[in-house]
Amino acid sequence: LNSIVIAGAGHAGVQVALSLRQEGYAGRIALVNDEPWLPYQRPPLSKAYLLGKIDATAMQFRPAQFYAEQGIDLVADRGAAVDRQNRRLLLASGQALDYDHLVLATGAHNRPLNVPGAALTGVFGLKTRADAEALAPLLAQARRVVVIGAGFIGLEFAAVAAAAGAAVEVLELGERPMARAVSPQMSELFRVAHESWGVKFRFRTAVSEIEGDNGRAVAVLTSNGERLAADLVVYGIGVVPNVALALEAGLTIDNGITVDANLLSSDPHISALGDVASFPCLQNGERLTRLESVQNAVDQGRLIAARLSGKPAPYTALPWFWTDQGSLKLQIAGLALGADNHVVLGEPGAQQVSVLCFAGERLLAVESCGRVGDHMAARKILARRPALTPAVAASPGFDLKTWEA
Ligand code: FAD
Repeated sequence: LNSIVIAGAGHAGVQVALSLRQEGYAGRIALVNDEPWLPYQRPPLSKAYLLGKIDATAMQFRPAQFYAEQGIDLVADRGAAVDRQNRRLLLASGQALDYDHLVLATGAHNRPLNVPGAALTGVFGLKTRADAEALAPLLAQARRVVVIGAGFIGLEFAAVAAAAGAAVEVLELGERPMARAVSPQMSELFRVAHESWGVKFRFRTAVSEIEGDNGRAVAVLTSNGERLAADLVVYGIGVVPNVALALEAGLTIDNGITVDANLLSSDPHISALGDVASFPCLQNGERLTRLESVQNAVDQGRLIAARLSGKPAPYTALPWFWTDQGSLKLQIAGLALGADNHVVLGEPGAQQVSVLCFAGERLLAVESCGRVGDHMAARKILARRPALTPAVAASPGFDLKTWEA
């Protein structure tokens, strides 16, 4: 291969470029970056960066000089169409990049809030550095904040807003925080913690409208007929994969760009990874799965780079994830989809807990709050996939770290 073109310079795209050079690939690498900054990491946007604890430089993966030294061409442009016949990526500027292999790492965008008033000033999603920079000065002044969606991003933001001194209300359609991703026990721990920081939850509640005054949001109207005054509204209601390029190029799509176990799309000259890719996930019974995590983007990036350097292997990496909310850090190893049996280790009152999630006798995932050692042990145990049964885990004095060793 002489020319590899990567569309999208987020976690996934950057990792492919870095790993290609680490693998010794000496051909051309073009990394198409459609954001106006050097490639950066997203997790601090709803955490340290928003809190003003780190500056924008600290979010960048690498300084500009690094890309130059590594011979990675950062192309400030946007992929507009794929000409599969001639293996060219056409760019929004009208230029084109010829490829031997194309990597689609276009990520995802926020699911839009489809209610009247969603376009008012003071209503934000939180996905890009531009979002965080527009939001930060308003947050500093906000007294009443309404957060729509009690998922990871909504709750990370709620914790930041509460720490900034605002009165925070969280609206959530489901019955508990982070319901799609964590056990009822862990949801409960986080509900109690957020409430202790002053955050108020309204579950089974949707937003029906955002009320404006002179173009600015002033209140959120709920499905229960309530009116919550707000000078800042932030929504986190999920993301939608950026499949436009792939769709128009005729690639197979199924909740993301469909790829095989080697992360190849339906065109053998095109790979896809990260938030935009739907892959057969070992830990989810090989069902097509789209994961939104740094771990997934990074491990998939390494795998594609290795394959393009002559070392193909199927993707089997164990999913893991973290979220920081206020003083709490939650780490999740594995995927808890389908769990029906939970064993709790530790002290919920002390906010130091691991929840072991089983489907019948099979350990699927371990959620750890304030127990980093458990999380590291869980990653090894789950990667090994031995039979840790609920009975053993629930026995008196059971310790995950001892069992792992
Ligand atoms: P992205 O990071 O979305 O990058 C895709 C890039 O492609 C973007 O720059 C986009 O503009 C660009 N692009 C799109 N279309 C085109 C095109 N046609 N041409 C060129 N470029 C294009 N994960 C964790 O594991 N832990 C966390 O704590 C955590 N916190 C998060 C906090 C926030 C606020 C957000 C938004 C995400 C967080 N995540 C976290 C998720 C994690 O950041 C994503 O899973 C990860 O960034 C996915 O990487 P990606 O490269 O696939 O996609």
